[in-house]
Amino acid sequence: MEEKNNKSHVLVLPFPVQGHINPMVQFSKRLTSKESVKVTLITIDSVTKSMPILESGSIKIHSIPHNDETPPQSYDLFLEWFHVLVSKNLTKIVEELSDSEYPVKVLVFDSITTWAIDLAHELGLKGAAFFTQSCALSVVYYHMDPEKNKVCVFDDGVCFPSLPLLQKQDLPSFVCQSDLYPSLRKLVFSRNINFKKADWLLFNSFDVLEKEVIDWLRTQCRIKTIGPIIPSMYLDKRLKDDKEYGLSLFKPNSETCMKWLDSREIGSVVYVSFGSLANLGEQQMEELASGLMMSDFYFLWVVRATEENKLTEEFMSKSKEKCLIVNWCPQLDVLSHQAVGCFFTHCGWNSTLEALSLGVPMVAMPQWSDQPTNAKFISDVWQTGVRVKAGENGVVNRDEIVSSIREVMREEKGIMLKENANKWKKLAKEAVDEGGSSDKNIEEFLKLVIN
Ligand code: UDP
Repeated sequence: MEEKNNKSHVLVLPFPVQGHINPMVQFSKRLTSKESVKVTLITIDSVTKSMPILESGSIKIHSIPHNDETPPQSYDLFLEWFHVLVSKNLTKIVEELSDSEYPVKVLVFDSITTWAIDLAHELGLKGAAFFTQSCALSVVYYHMDPEKNKVCVFDDGVCFPSLPLLQKQDLPSFVCQSDLYPSLRKLVFSRNINFKKADWLLFNSFDVLEKEVIDWLRTQCRIKTIGPIIPSMYLDKRLKDDKEYGLSLFKPNSETCMKWLDSREIGSVVYVSFGSLANLGEQQMEELASGLMMSDFYFLWVVRATEENKLTEEFMSKSKEKCLIVNWCPQLDVLSHQAVGCFFTHCGWNSTLEALSLGVPMVAMPQWSDQPTNAKFISDVWQTGVRVKAGENGVVNRDEIVSSIREVMREEKGIMLKENANKWKKLAKEAVDEGGSSDKNIEEFLKLVIN
């Protein structure tokens, strides 16, 4: 009788942008903490070349070469290019990495690369779709499927099952802006394919955080919540030495940031970041710079190198005393620093989960994609932040920025937001700690993966 091999090599294929790499690397670390599982992260040469690999622990990295060909800059073209590259190489990768002790059995792929499940099945592998955004977002996209069309549209908003009434400003940008990146839009809506085809559906969220939404999704498909998937040292501390995500596309100015924060008083600093992708318009950048200066608080502002030219010389010289501007920072260390009193954020899903897990109140200034929906939940459902209001031209003006920061940092409301943030911090830790809902789901997934 053939002996059953209870070991498995799992391939993890994130879409190669920072906000997708971080949670999938982190999830890989959870898997590989078990002896029966080996994990290889698959990415592309242009990423590994630009990435200082800070610490990848026990995960191996397999980088697909593309002969120095520069990947297309536009999302739409990049998506197709990435698809072709992975399709051409996956068979060879599986053959190379499989061995008799640890046969490759599973592909964990980014839910937006909906084509990956067919590749996995053709190679005889099981496929797990990994969702790097909220469950609420999946409910919205689920209803974008023309076959479903069960949404009720009212004058004051759209009603999706299990979600609060969403006004236009709360909807993901792909829903209301049909001209925005057409291929990417098509792809995010087609994530529903995963519900039909994938063997497992993994969500970087946790049960109590999106309870009603998850209960509803579970009436449609079997989902496993496995989040918040952030380095263990910031939550349950069960993975030894797991202090950072490990793969950063940008080099953080860690020492400068931490030194600067160390010299500030408790809760006195506003941390400002718009993540790895968002580009603010010049007028918006000017309003933000003026608002931050007028707010009377110290601020640590991440302005990526490609955005720096939007800051005026006048601002740079006037602001020296009040702020530190860096191109990239160790965000988790910054958010856990006692000097930080609030997070002025674009509400990317990772940043949102990080702030919730570390108990930091937020000022939400969403830009695109899922961020407006995340901002709705931050301000109205979890109540851990306030949301700025944009003017008719779409720009948030300096006075609005000042009053929102003051509301969180100084006013009565700030105390309530902080209390709620602390509540979520506790619940996030419980979810990933031993026996918590996400921990149980990861354990269950691990059992399935080795069989
Ligand atoms: N991040 C960081 N340093 C920075 C800004 C962001 O390490 O200066 C990390 C942050 O911790 C998060 C990720 O980059 O894990 C950004 O992901 P998110 O989903 O918030 O936004 P995106 O970049 O996808 O818009």
